[in-house]
Amino acid sequence: MNAHDICVRGQGPAGRALALALSAQGWRVALTGDAARTARPGDLRTYALNARAVKLLSRIKVWDALLHAGDAATRVLDMQVCGDDGGHIAFSAWEQCETELAWIVDAQALDEALAQALRYAAHVAVVPEDDPAAAAAPLVAICEGARSATRAALDAGVRRQEYGHTALAARLVADRPHAGVARQWFRSPDILALLPFDRPEPGRSYGLVWSQPHAQAQRLLALDDAAFEAELNAATGGAAGALRLGSARAGWPLSLVKVERWCGPGWVVVGDAAHQVHPLAGQGLNLGLADVDTLARVLGEARRHEPWRSPGDERLLRRYVRERAAPTAAMAGLTDGLLHLFANPAAPLRELRNRGMTALGALPPVKRWLVGRALD
Ligand SMILES: Cc1cc2nc3c(=O)[nH]c(=O)nc-3n(C[C@H](O)[C@H](O)[C@H](O)COP(=O)(O)OP(=O)(O)OC[C@H]3O[C@@H](n4cnc5c(N)ncnc54)[C@H](O)[C@@H]3O)c2cc1C
Repeated sequence: MNAHDICVRGQGPAGRALALALSAQGWRVALTGDAARTARPGDLRTYALNARAVKLLSRIKVWDALLHAGDAATRVLDMQVCGDDGGHIAFSAWEQCETELAWIVDAQALDEALAQALRYAAHVAVVPEDDPAAAAAPLVAICEGARSATRAALDAGVRRQEYGHTALAARLVADRPHAGVARQWFRSPDILALLPFDRPEPGRSYGLVWSQPHAQAQRLLALDDAAFEAELNAATGGAAGALRLGSARAGWPLSLVKVERWCGPGWVVVGDAAHQVHPLAGQGLNLGLADVDTLARVLGEARRHEPWRSPGDERLLRRYVRERAAPTAAMAGLTDGLLHLFANPAAPLRELRNRGMTALGALPPVKRWLVGRALD
């Protein structure tokens, strides 16, 4: 008899959230991933999290801890998106009758809040990842991110497409308040996002995500602070005020990852181990937390209504896959399509995409639909 019902491999945000959600249902969880592999000190990313992700984090008692940290989560009230030839579309929480369009969350604070909550989780045992006997369980939930080694040993059918781009992240401070406005520029070949945030300076900071072809990103990373700030301010045209660096800069190479098989007898993939998308829409972790939410619900329902069924039963796991594969493929298609649409510098296409963007902005039902999709 196994000491655990489910082994969660990987202590990224998806793995930790899954372990907490399962423990809350009474499953005995073994969580692997050692501290050295997991620690990401100084992670400069900010995550834009949607309403569904926030609901899950509230349920697993992590969201309140983030809010109590004071400046670790900031509401997005408005969003301004610009094209590369006058195209423009704006979204507002007020117009959509929502309290916020999204929350911007400090990646490191989220990691820490999840780790803290795990210390109090009644049914989670942290086990060494290289001790198969200690981690043995009827179900292995693979949450090891896009380069998962456990998944590589299975017949999951992984397809990876390198974008040839690097996303550069940093914290910025502006000379005027952000007023909860997120800004994004779709250009050719770069995409730049400013996410309103309260660290390092309350009310005046931004998380920067600037994706560029590798060579251009490496050049920007190598610039001294003053030269980088000059390029950044030229790229944003003063829309958010004068911007200066509030942190170091770091880069992440970007790729699109899809798996053909999400589950098999005794295993299932979750989060970036199942899908990796371009961060231009800020949806990667939202998709991962939606996976967590769905998988925990499917397993919880089976525990209540089909107690004879093992959590590793593939027929049970396919219920999770049926719910998650389609929205994930749709988001991967959308981010990939947008990227390619704006990567083409040809003049007729440029005019068309900019006109299309502005025309969308004039259609309130379409905007409501877009915001609705992004919120859940
Ligand atoms: C610049 C940038 C900005 C982003 N912005 C957003 C955003 O605004 N909103 C959003 O929703 N998403 C965003 N994302 C995407 C988000 O970062 C990812 O989707 C998210 O981190 C995936 O979490 P995960 O837990 O699935 O995987 P990971 O974060 O990759 O975690 C996997 C964990 O598993 C561990 N691991 C690996 N192999 C093993 C093994 N063999 N055994 C045990 N452990 C193992 C790893 O060390 C790691 O700790 C962004 C990404 C980037 C690069």
